[in-house]
Amino acid sequence: MKKAIFPGSFDPITLGHFDIVERGVSLFDELIIAIGVNSDKKYMFSLEERIKFIEDCFKDNPKIKVVTYKGLTVDFCTKNKVDFILRGLRNPADFEFEKAIAHTNRDLAPVETIFLLTAASTSYISSSIVREVIRHGGDYTKLVPKTVRI
Ligand code: ADP
Repeated sequence: MKKAIFPGSFDPITLGHFDIVERGVSLFDELIIAIGVNSDKKYMFSLEERIKFIEDCFKDNPKIKVVTYKGLTVDFCTKNKVDFILRGLRNPADFEFEKAIAHTNRDLAPVETIFLLTAASTSYISSSIVREVIRHGGDYTKLVPKTVRI
């Protein structure tokens, strides 16, 4: 059984994440969307809100699960017998950042990172831009799945 984890903050989930999940799920038997919990980080949306946005989004797909985790992603993978980490790439900055993390993860555990290139239509979207639009009262609904409403 091929299990993958798609880790992230998802504060909130965007159409960019949605695209990676929709395309990535066909590669695996199970895709676990894992919300990393970092107690030092300030989030716009509570953990419960972030979970609900994602669960509502994929409720019709039994291959997709949503969990939260603390600590290293590779430790989560080892404990839960997950062999693959799914990540999205938008630009060269993402590539450099992800490359260092993927190499480190390979040093720590036998886990392969699979990268999907962003869809052209969502390549500019990030959770931080969405938060900025929300803060200033802009129309964020164009950037996120329908389940993200405030
Ligand atoms: P993190 O805090 O780990 O960066 P994010 O929630 O911002 O978490 O992102 C999780 C994953 O989704 C990362 O691999 C990121 O590159 C990817 N991602 C975010 N936005 C997009 C997008 N618009 N297109 C493709 N991948 C994306």
